[in-house]
Amino acid sequence: MIVPIELAKTEKITYNITIDKLPTLTFDQKVVIVTNPTISKFHLKTLLDTVSAPQLHVVTIPDGEEYKTLETVEKILGECFEQKLDRKSLLIAFGGGVIGDMTGFSASLYQRGIDFIQIPTTLLSQVDASVGGKTGVNNKYGKNLIGAFYQPKAVYIDPSFLETLPAREFAAGVAEVVKMAVMFDKEFFIYLQNANLTKTDTIKEMIRRSVELKAWVVNQDEKEAGIRAVLNYGHTFGHVVENETNYKTYLHGEAVAIGMVMANALAVELDLLTQNEAEEIKVLLNKASLPTDYTIKDIDDFYEHFFLDKKSANNTIKFILPQGIGNYKMVSNIDESLVKKVLHRFGAER
Ligand code: NAD
Repeated sequence: MIVPIELAKTEKITYNITIDKLPTLTFDQKVVIVTNPTISKFHLKTLLDTVSAPQLHVVTIPDGEEYKTLETVEKILGECFEQKLDRKSLLIAFGGGVIGDMTGFSASLYQRGIDFIQIPTTLLSQVDASVGGKTGVNNKYGKNLIGAFYQPKAVYIDPSFLETLPAREFAAGVAEVVKMAVMFDKEFFIYLQNANLTKTDTIKEMIRRSVELKAWVVNQDEKEAGIRAVLNYGHTFGHVVENETNYKTYLHGEAVAIGMVMANALAVELDLLTQNEAEEIKVLLNKASLPTDYTIKDIDDFYEHFFLDKKSANNTIKFILPQGIGNYKMVSNIDESLVKKVLHRFGAER
């Protein structure tokens, strides 16, 4: 006997991403805001002035990727219980990707799932992390290995929060914007080449187009069975760079920038990209003050590390490569010797 469960009928998920000045938000349920001391110092007052709810509580967790753990989620959940949240209550993630990923994950767990809203405050979270419902934490085995796909009820992106963001963090966000342009939209890439990347209008356009592209991808493939994997362009190499440098030298977006340059070198080798196009991408990354040069310490180790990535299914590495600018190709089963030949160009002996 087969009893079908047709979740698609009940789980019709839709939500809006608003890119504008933060509107007045009035709720009729209990609300818990999750943030950290850095963000609250600059912006909590603004948020509290716009949010009203019958019961409002702020959970402040320490700032840093090293706190993106189950222990911190436990702390968030503990405060939710202290506040006697019920199944109708709401969490608000107010911060960068770290806060967003942990708040979303906490919301997915509290009494088997309550609503949450994303109010991202870094460029990276405004253009990427707050959209698409990937939530989770790190553990000693790796980054984001524990988590859930759990969509927010709404996302409010207010670019004015970025005014206090350090320049390096801003640039790290631009890396994800460039990623989107190279994978999907040549016109957007040309726009970025010609734009002043720190001008308010450009920032708004970077957010608008990146969110539009990310939503387009996620709407087709929420759980990364296909096209969503394209968003990992630069990440396969970038994750190894982050790991080789113990997550201390580079911000995630910086490692992704280096990773894109490496992926591009492989794409050139496979005749998917011209040397000239690879150079154009590098120039754009440099214009955004992103690093593009890196010396691999040990080529064999670097290569082996690809297989530890959770995205390398069945022991094959799926490389996401640009096919020209504005188009992508997923390529598996590339000869080890060819990949290593490319890696040697980033080796100490080059
Ligand atoms: P982050 O959340 O650590 O924020 C970076 C720093 O900026 C922090 O020190 C933070 O306190 C500070 N900050 C935040 N907003 C600020 C503001 N307005 N003014 C001044 N300082 C501010 O880092 P991030 O780059 O936003 O996010 C990285 C995280 O996002 C990683 O954990 C990554 O795994 C995750 N991520 C998730 C997705 C997803 O789809 N869920 C996608 C990409 C990245």
